[in-house]
Amino acid sequence: MKPLPVMELEQGAALPVAETFLSLQGEGKLAGVASFFIRVSGCNLRCGWCDTPYASWAPEGGMRSIAALVTEAAESGAGHIVLTGGEPMMFARSADLTRELASMGLHVTIETAGTIADAARLPHCDLMSISPKLSNSTPKEGDTRDPGGVWRSRHQARRLNLEAIQTLLDRFPERQLKFVVCGHGDLAEIDDVLHGLRGWAPGDVLLMPEGVKPPTAEARRWVAQVCVERNWRYCPRLHIELFGNTRGT
Ligand code: SF4
Repeated sequence: MKPLPVMELEQGAALPVAETFLSLQGEGKLAGVASFFIRVSGCNLRCGWCDTPYASWAPEGGMRSIAALVTEAAESGAGHIVLTGGEPMMFARSADLTRELASMGLHVTIETAGTIADAARLPHCDLMSISPKLSNSTPKEGDTRDPGGVWRSRHQARRLNLEAIQTLLDRFPERQLKFVVCGHGDLAEIDDVLHGLRGWAPGDVLLMPEGVKPPTAEARRWVAQVCVERNWRYCPRLHIELFGNTRGT
């Protein structure tokens, strides 16, 4: 996608960042591609199975200047940059960062849950990776991280925003809809989500078995079978297979 014109970057523009690292993209259409990751810290959701709690349940890190992030990304040598989280679309400054990265000729993937999309201030993005959250993501009652169930209610109310997802689909021709699945029961929910959206193709739909360990043979089999039947894509977690559940990979 042609980058939008770069605006003059306000001095001191910054984003909360949990971590940056160089690795291989583990998921989605660009799995296996060497990429520099910028993980913002902070999320409007609290998935029970979140694999980056240090960017959601207990956000870590501090403010990093956009200028420094762009320099670090360019110096990493990777042609692909992944802006992930947490939830990058929560932060207006993500638009500034992605425009700066694009102006350096870098390919930008954004990984989002698709609950926030301000049509007037969308970022630059070459691959919009949207991961709509199904009910399997809602924290369980009694989750010790959520006394009183405040986040459970908030998460349930926020986790699906079809209007926001549609805005992203309409704006970004390169996209993927990545669903984390725990069992067959998730399929009806996925169908409901897809029925509420326009303009997607079967090849945009990815199913990824949930878990921070390689999926069992049985889980791999049923997910693969569904993908074959529906012409969807099986989404591995290559980084888990290569490095395990290790931070910075
Ligand atoms: S949306 Fe992503 S970062 Fe936020 S809680 Fe869910 S899995 Fe974690």
